[in-house]
Amino acid sequence: MTENSLERTGASLLIKALRQNGINNIYGLVGIPVTDFARLAELRGMKYYGFRREDSAVDAAAAAGYLTQKPGVALTVSAPGFLNGLTALAQATKNCFPLIMISGSSERHIIDLSQGDYEGLDQYNVAKPFCKKAYRVDRAEDIGLAVARAIRTAVSGRPGGVYLDLPADTISQEAPTADTGIYKLVDPAPKQEPSDEAVSRAVNIIKNAQKPLIILGKGAAYARTEEQVQKLVNETGIPFLPMSMAKGVVPDDNKYSAASARSLSLKNADAVILIGARLNWMLSYGDAPQFNPDAKFIQLDIDATQFDSSQKISAPLQGDLQSILAKLVPALIKSGYHTSEEWLDQIAQDTAKNDAKFAERIAAGKTNPKFGYYGAIEPIAEYFNEHPDTYIVSEGANTLDIGRNMIGMKLPRHRLDTGTWGVMGVGMGYAIATAIETGKHVVALDGDSAFGFDGMEMETICRYKLPITVVVINNGGIYNGVDQVVPDQLGPTTLDPTGRYDLMAKAFGGDNYFVSNYQEMKDTFAKAVESGRPNLINVQIDPSMGKESGHIGNLNPALNLKPL
Ligand code: ADP
Ligand code: MG
Repeated sequence: MTENSLERTGASLLIKALRQNGINNIYGLVGIPVTDFARLAELRGMKYYGFRREDSAVDAAAAAGYLTQKPGVALTVSAPGFLNGLTALAQATKNCFPLIMISGSSERHIIDLSQGDYEGLDQYNVAKPFCKKAYRVDRAEDIGLAVARAIRTAVSGRPGGVYLDLPADTISQEAPTADTGIYKLVDPAPKQEPSDEAVSRAVNIIKNAQKPLIILGKGAAYARTEEQVQKLVNETGIPFLPMSMAKGVVPDDNKYSAASARSLSLKNADAVILIGARLNWMLSYGDAPQFNPDAKFIQLDIDATQFDSSQKISAPLQGDLQSILAKLVPALIKSGYHTSEEWLDQIAQDTAKNDAKFAERIAAGKTNPKFGYYGAIEPIAEYFNEHPDTYIVSEGANTLDIGRNMIGMKLPRHRLDTGTWGVMGVGMGYAIATAIETGKHVVALDGDSAFGFDGMEMETICRYKLPITVVVINNGGIYNGVDQVVPDQLGPTTLDPTGRYDLMAKAFGGDNYFVSNYQEMKDTFAKAVESGRPNLINVQIDPSMGKESGHIGNLNPALNLKPL
C-alpha cells in the first residue's frame, strides 16, 4: 500500500472522524482485529489507554462522557471482549452517560450462515437491547456518517450508550477518497425549550406550595446547571435534596440543603421539583409513605417518556435542563416567591437533631476499639472539606452508603458512584477516566468486595502513573466478614479479612499503605493523595462492621434460614 492509500483505510478514516469531532481519548483492550487500529490511533495523535478487562475500559469511557459531555470512546475485540464490555454499555445507557463502544467483529456473510468464525458473534443484534442505538459500518466510505450518527445519538436528547460494530474487513478496506464523508457535527445536542405555558403551569404550582422541595439528580450535574440551580435555591429558599451524584451542584453546606432531613422533607413536601432525577427505586417511585401522598410533582427532563413513569406529573417540563431553567428560574423569581419560614424551620430543626446524632456516631467511630466505617472515612471527609477540588469515586455497600453521607461535596461532578443500577465493579474504570480527563487527584473509595470486581486495574493505574488513591475498606466480606452458615464452611458473603490489597499497588510500582485505626488513617490519607502517585490504602476494619446490603437491606428477600 502506498502511504496515501493507507490514509484511506477504514481505520484511518475512523480516527480522522473522531478527532475532527474533538474526541482524542480511546479506552480499550486490544486483540484481533483492532490492535493495529489502536496503534494507528496513537500514531495519529490520539491517546489510547489499555485496560485489563473490557468492562473497566467501557466504564472509563462512560465516565469520560459524563465528565466532558462528549461521548467517551471504548474499543474492544470481538465476541468475548464485546460481551465483557456489554454490561458497561448497558450501565452507561441506564445512567444517561454518552458513550460509543466500538467492537471489532466478523464479516456479515460468515455470521449469517453460522459458519463458525474465530470469536464470531452477531454482535450488532446482541447489542441492541443494551444501548440507545446500535450501528454497523460495512463500508469504509460510510465511516464519517457512522461516527456522526454515533456521536449525535450518544449526546442528543437523553444521553446514553451507542454500539458501533466495526467488521475486520472495514478496518483495512480502502475508501474511494481520503476524506470520504468526514465532517464535524453541527450542534450535536440541540437545545430544546419548554413552552411558556408549561413554565407558567410549573410556576403556579410552586407559588401555591407551602412545602416545596427540589430533588437534584445526576442529570442536573451532567447538564452543568450549577449556576442556575444555585440561583434558584438561594433566591427562592426552596430546600433541596441531592441524589448522590448530584452532590455539589449546590454545595452540600448550603443552608437550604435538606440532606440531613431527608425523610422528613420527602414525607411532608407538597410540591416536589425533580431536576434531572427519576422517580425510580432510589426515590421509592415517589410513593407514600416515603412521600406525601398529596404531593404534586413537577419534573424537568429531556425525555418526555420519563414523565408519569411512577406518579402523575402535574407540571412536565420537557427540554434540556439549561433551557428549562433559563425560563423557569427568572419566572419564579419574578413571581416574588419565597419559601415559608415555617417549612424552613421544620427542616432546620430536624437537621440539627440528625446532625447531632451523626456527629456523635463519628466521634465514637474515632475512638471505638472496634475500628469501623466512621473512623475509617472521617479523615477522608475532613480532607474533602479542605480540598474540595478532589474527585471521589465510590462503590461498595456500607462503604458507599456511609461515605456518601459523611463526605460533603462543594463542587459539581466531583463524585461518581454506582449509579442508577447501584452496580459494583465500576470504581477503577471511573477513577482512571476521571484522573485522565480532569488531571486532578482522584480517590477511589471501595469496599473489599467491590474492589474484587475490577482490582486488576490497579496495574493500569500504576502503568499510567495516575494520581489515584484507592482506599479499600476491608471487613473481609460482602456486607461483612462474619457470615458462617454451616460449620466448617465459609459463608457465601465471606472474603479474606486479612487480605493485603495494598500489596497489589506495590506489585506494580505504586505505593502501599496499611492502616488499622483512625489515627493511622488520619496520618496516611492526605499524604497518600498529595503524593500524586498511584497508591492503595488497605484499611483493615473489624469484620463484624457492616450491615447486610448496606442501606438497602429492604430490597433483599429474607428467608427463614434453618437447618432441615
Ligand atoms: P439520579 O440517579 O441522580 O436521580 P437519574 O439518572 O435517575 O438521576 O436521572 C437523570 C435524568 O436526567 C434522566 O431522566 C435524564 O433523562 C435527565 N437528563 C440527562 N441529561 C439531561 C439534560 N441535558 N437535560 C435534561 N434532562 C437531562
Ligand atoms: Mg466488605
